[in-house]
Amino acid sequence: MRELQVWKFGGTSLGNGELIRNAAKLVAEALRTRDLVVVCSAMGHTTDRLMAVADAASKGDAQKAIETVRELREEHLKACREAVDDVDVRREVESFVTARTEELEKVATSASLLREVTERTRDLIASFGERLSTKIFWGALRSMGVDAVYLEGGEAGIVTDDAFGNANPLMPLTAQLLRERLGKLLSDGKVPVVTGYIAANRDGVTTTLGRGGSDYTATLIAYSLDAKEVWLWTDVDGMMSADPRVVRTAKVLRRISYEEAVEMAYFGAKGLQIRTILPAKEKGIPIRIKNTFNPGAEGTVICDSTDKEMGVTKAVLFTRNVSMLTVKGDVLKGGALSARVLAVLEQLKVVPLMISQSVSSASISVVLPRPMTDIVVRGLEREVIGELGGGELEVERDVAAIAVIGEGMKGTPGVASRVFTAVAEKGINVRMIAQGSSELNISFVVKERDADEAVRAVHEAFIG
Ligand code: ASP
Ligand code: MG
Repeated sequence: MRELQVWKFGGTSLGNGELIRNAAKLVAEALRTRDLVVVCSAMGHTTDRLMAVADAASKGDAQKAIETVRELREEHLKACREAVDDVDVRREVESFVTARTEELEKVATSASLLREVTERTRDLIASFGERLSTKIFWGALRSMGVDAVYLEGGEAGIVTDDAFGNANPLMPLTAQLLRERLGKLLSDGKVPVVTGYIAANRDGVTTTLGRGGSDYTATLIAYSLDAKEVWLWTDVDGMMSADPRVVRTAKVLRRISYEEAVEMAYFGAKGLQIRTILPAKEKGIPIRIKNTFNPGAEGTVICDSTDKEMGVTKAVLFTRNVSMLTVKGDVLKGGALSARVLAVLEQLKVVPLMISQSVSSASISVVLPRPMTDIVVRGLEREVIGELGGGELEVERDVAAIAVIGEGMKGTPGVASRVFTAVAEKGINVRMIAQGSSELNISFVVKERDADEAVRAVHEAFIG
């Protein structure tokens, strides 16, 4: 039995026709030794530009919307010429691109007239990127003699709820349909080539799995077909121990655990959605990050076990896109404070990145995504400060959250002291600390201007 793998190509790996041809060549070669399901993201920054089409339409700016659609049409037609050699196949792909972009032009024109783009329409507009790129990829494979079959996410079997913009697959129905439909194609010797990111609700209306959702498409398929591995092809050699723009000595991680990957995803590593990891984790399917620009590199494997040789800490990541709120109350009124603050967050559907409470329970600090600051401040002022009478709310927007991540911290004493010694030696003040009891992650908050230096200091202390 040949091993089954699911290969997903990201937008930068499909940035133009040459790159699509290159990626298709990797697939054609690999098919000699394994079975594959291919998942494609949209070309380059197409999705961002489709969002701009939606924005223009919602403001009634039909001209701008249409202009962008036409640019996209030309770019995709150019990519067809570069990627698809066989004349008949190319003609088929070109007429697909023309027909789909004409359809998109109509959608954009109608939405502009209405000056309204609902979430549902936005998903429809966004879906064109993957449809176009995947069809071109399909054409490139056909030209190379591969018996490829083009499928949209919904056709392949991904059925979601109606949460347009960030829909949730309905399991186990999705797993069953994917298994039946793709399984049938595979057993007939065909190679399914599936649009990432897009799916359909129960009525067949197009939905999307949220930005970066193509990875999730890949792990859902792997889960459903019990694939042996998922390969996420991108433009870097793998997940890194830090942002190389900040830490020059950052290293590619050879092997990390699913849990470490989840912690890293929270901090935006490789733009992985957290839920991408879950189907793979559930079935113990390794996820490999590979570089189309350097296919010989091993990449990073996300799997059950971690690389012990690397020591206690794998990565030092940070995000500036946070703010910290501290609520101080009356000691005597005690315990109720945290519960109230968290209730407000819950009500506003804001998930805090970090929480810390003083022992006296007279104050609690929370770290939030920065764009949520204002609505949370208003909520807390209304529901907590007003109610408590005399409470105090402190807002810091100029902070960054740093996470030190690694399985090896579990049960290893002294990690925290090394982290904070490294930071203290640089004279940097730590505003807040949190360590989950999973001991996978020590997180702390510093002023934004100190973030780079703090990250470098901790990275040097543990990784080099
Ligand atoms: N094309 C979509 C995006 O840019 C989905 C993806 O790339 O995974 O968000
Ligand atoms: Mg993309």
